[in-house]
Amino acid sequence: MTYLADLFIDGEWRPGGGERFDVIDPADLTVIARFAAATEDDCMAAVDAAANAQQSWAATAPRERSELLRSAYDVLTAEVEQFAEIIVRENGKSWSDAIGEANYAKEFFRWFAEEAVRIPGDYRLSPAGDKRIVVDRQPIGVSLLITPWNFPAAMATRKLAPALAAGCTTILKPARETPLTAAYIVEVLRRVGVPSGVVNLVTPVPTGPLVAKMINRPEVRKLSFTGSTEVGRDLLHACADSVVSASMELGGNAPLIVLPGADMDVTVEGTLLAKMRNGGAACTAANRIYVHSSRHDEFVERMTAELAALSVGPGLDRSQQVGALVSTTERDKVAALVDTAVAEGATLVHGGTSSDKGAFYDVTLLTDVRHGSSITSTEIFGPVVTVVAYDDVDEAVRMANDTIYGLMAYVFGEEREAMAVARRLEAGMVAVNRGVVSDPAAPFGGVKQSGLGREGGSEGILEFLEEKYIALTAHP
Ligand code: ADP
Repeated sequence: MTYLADLFIDGEWRPGGGERFDVIDPADLTVIARFAAATEDDCMAAVDAAANAQQSWAATAPRERSELLRSAYDVLTAEVEQFAEIIVRENGKSWSDAIGEANYAKEFFRWFAEEAVRIPGDYRLSPAGDKRIVVDRQPIGVSLLITPWNFPAAMATRKLAPALAAGCTTILKPARETPLTAAYIVEVLRRVGVPSGVVNLVTPVPTGPLVAKMINRPEVRKLSFTGSTEVGRDLLHACADSVVSASMELGGNAPLIVLPGADMDVTVEGTLLAKMRNGGAACTAANRIYVHSSRHDEFVERMTAELAALSVGPGLDRSQQVGALVSTTERDKVAALVDTAVAEGATLVHGGTSSDKGAFYDVTLLTDVRHGSSITSTEIFGPVVTVVAYDDVDEAVRMANDTIYGLMAYVFGEEREAMAVARRLEAGMVAVNRGVVSDPAAPFGGVKQSGLGREGGSEGILEFLEEKYIALTAHP
């Protein structure tokens, strides 16, 4: 397969002024493309293009924007295998994870095609009866969209679709590990007829300083970022200087609580999904598993058997169930976390090995993990199950909430009890007796240091809209 590996600025693919960088297939460590690097001039050209297109794009009929998004959904549906293959090659995930992501990603175009024509406003009488209050919603303006490598397709469409639906022009900055999926999505938007300047793609080198320069351009009014809490904090500082609206999807440290009354079939199936989907490289992945001591041995035994049955291998081999991590750096981080956990007293029940042929890490299970040890306070981003036993549900809730993060939490148990615990968990999203929550129709996002704002649902488009209040004189 040949890949698009250039910048996209003002409706044209351009080689960029910087020295190209390698995109690597993590399954065999080969170079699959050399992607263009954007210089400061390229980044400024992207901002200029988006700024020039903003007014005319905002003035298009919602139906026109809606139909462009719907056409993009249709193309991605027809090309879903090609779409998934690009994801597999640059990200390393398994084929089923990639097809799952491709399907999830394209749904954002369909969902926001539907939302584009339903942007709500309001019209009310003032309490004093002297005026009519018209509340209009208008696009916030040029939007910079920064995405991570773990879901290279879905994180891009989850931002592009609501921004475009709202009438904002965009500059997409994908992660350097995974720019090819972003380039393909941008090309699909070009093919269906999204006008020049409305979508731009840059991969700045060096990232931080050039992103800051884009944020400092007064035309840029929105930053939508998905990535680590550390980088998110820096970007919030950058946004402060020019008072840019920021939506942030940051790190997570999801607890999963198994209550005494849990159905073990449902729990094991859900935990496998919550942990092993995307090889554990998800900010929603279950990071710490608190199991009631009365169910601990049964849970460990069942999970170990399930893990032993999972195959780990290249995503292009569609029979493999768990793929590679995105890079050897990420693989080594996971290995170091496991080694430290064992040195801190955890017991390695299954796995614990890396491959040197690709960025693979074996599915792994640790027990006797201490709450508060490094593996329970760090986002693992790998296929490692860490089990902490507890005796008292209040204690489990306290440990679950004992983190600066608050993105996702999972509870397995008898439904009434599980719901009561769900309400006490400090998280933007809680899954009860299931392993996956993501849905384009639901508001995705975190509390505490996991983020600001929501993506998807009817909330997602609001991040790209601003209210305008128009006062009219009320006539009797
Ligand atoms: P991850 O751990 O998922 O790689 P990062 O926060 O490092 O999370 O990266 C998420 C996105 O943020 C990527 O597109 C990355 O290139 C970008 N990024 C990294 N550092 C900076 C920075 N200093 N300023 C702006 N964007 C950055």
